[in-house]
Amino acid sequence: DWVNFIDFFQRIIDRFEMGRSQNVTFKTKLPNELLYVEIDTDKMTQVLDNIISNALKYSPDGGQLRFKVEKKEREKEIVVSVADQGMGIPRENVKNIFERFYRVDKARTRQLGGTGLGLAIAKEMITAHGGRIWASSVEGRGTTIYFTLPYDPTNEDEWS
Ligand code: ATP
Ligand code: MG
Repeated sequence: DWVNFIDFFQRIIDRFEMGRSQNVTFKTKLPNELLYVEIDTDKMTQVLDNIISNALKYSPDGGQLRFKVEKKEREKEIVVSVADQGMGIPRENVKNIFERFYRVDKARTRQLGGTGLGLAIAKEMITAHGGRIWASSVEGRGTTIYFTLPYDPTNEDEWS
């Protein structure tokens, strides 16, 4: 389906913000325009659900989640990011988190639940949509997950 990614993303953020039980604040920075992407909305919802639940799972009380979409006009893509202020990931492990069943610290993550498949599935789906996904993290400071999606620059003009 062709959807305006900004509306689509905002609805998912709202759902998490209303349903949250922790004391975590949400900040969003979204372009004030229509950005059309061709996505499988069920799959993209699954991707964002996992990224956002990870961010919440590892967020401390009083932490902040930052949601951002940036338009890269030259590359005809958008860069979507979800940043948390959680425990972060040790530098040497950041590259592994998109592998199947990979979890950074078995003891640390066991109590938080999960199988270690969420980000592997996210990577598969983002790749299938023609995008890339990566992470940047500082241990003790927080993690940001980024992904790109191609957007249609012509749709913008027609619809705005
Ligand atoms: P599942 O998503 O299948 O329920 P999971 O959340 O453990 O399980 P992934 O979403 O694939 O699995 O994440 C893999 C691992 O990467 C996590 O177990 C955790 O160790 C680490 N990780 C992912 N996101 C974050 C984050 N925002 N902050 C800190 N560590 C993270
Ligand atoms: Mg997960």
